Amino acid sequence: MKNIFKLLFIIFIFTCALYLLGDKTVSNKNEKTENNIFKSIPTYKEENNERYIKFNNKNKDLTIDEVVKSVNINLDINFYENIEESPNKNTNLILVNKHYALDKDYIPNDLVQVDYKYTSGITVYANKEAKEKFEELSTDASAVGLNIKAISAYRSYEYQKKLYEEYLLNDPKEIVDTYSARAGHSEHQTGLAFDVYNVSSPYTSFGETKEYEWVKINAHKYGFIIRYTSSNQHITGYKNEPWHLRYVGVDAAKHIYENDITLEEYVLNNKNS
Ligand SMILES: [Zn+2]
Repeated sequence: MKNIFKLLFIIFIFTCALYLLGDKTVSNKNEKTENNIFKSIPTYKEENNERYIKFNNKNKDLTIDEVVKSVNINLDINFYENIEESPNKNTNLILVNKHYALDKDYIPNDLVQVDYKYTSGITVYANKEAKEKFEELSTDASAVGLNIKAISAYRSYEYQKKLYEEYLLNDPKEIVDTYSARAGHSEHQTGLAFDVYNVSSPYTSFGETKEYEWVKINAHKYGFIIRYTSSNQHITGYKNEPWHLRYVGVDAAKHIYENDITLEEYVLNNKNS
């Protein structure tokens, strides 16, 4: 008799355990569907949710924060696939890259000619505010014996198209894409990008000049960033271009410089954007 009670007691405990365990599994399931882990990240964007899940599954070593930030800057999409319209048009924070494009009719407001004194006689047009800050930068550099002039700034859609097609005559597309933008994807169409040189050597050697050493530590004070470096090629898709300066405004340039980030990260991983 005593054994029967013992047996019944064991069966009772076992049933309770099974019941509790089952209940727990159900509630875990609910938590998974109701509690989105990505939502806790400040830069979470509802429209990217499916992409976060996919990217997370493929990159198990990344933290949730890294997944959200990577997808926001489109690291999950191949260059020149799913092209969208550039955000922040006609502002200093306009974003033009291999994911965001300008249409062929986009001509920025406030285009003015850069004074010949700052271009060594070449005709260069740029955004008015960027041009004034560039002239300031160039003047301050010359005060310490350095020569920083603009060789190119604003370029139209058509001009960029021609340039890219000319490069294709010499190099295969995969190579050209690492040093030249396709039409509509060039920052030069914004009027905010400047290619610079020190006049005595070609712009492609700018990275080896003392002018570049000065630019590296001073450009942000005038609102410029060095846009393409070898360490951000996985984000921008371009090889190191020490000569390509992009005007973003003093506050943004300071933040980008101090945090060593790209314009993509500044614009797309900003909580308020
Ligand atoms: Zn450039």
